[in-house]
Amino acid sequence: MNETRCYVCGYSDFDERRVEYVYRRHGKYLIVRDVPCEVCLHCGERYYAGATLLKIERRFKALAEQPVRSQLTLQVPVEAFA
Ligand SMILES: [Zn+2]
Repeated sequence: MNETRCYVCGYSDFDERRVEYVYRRHGKYLIVRDVPCEVCLHCGERYYAGATLLKIERRFKALAEQPVRSQLTLQVPVEAFA
């Protein structure tokens, strides 16, 4: 038996969804929409395929190192909770 279980809660029911993924490295961000993942139906933990994360990382590097334009650039306000 090869049942996949959630590492967080141990539940084994997942749903395939497309979500917004926020990639962050060295204070820079890339928000990627419609990223496929498996979501635990019990606790909401998201699981991404290695190839999916690699693709996001490559896109982030391409945008950071080369004059490649993203589809959209957002300015995001950042505050500490007070
Ligand atoms: Zn879970």
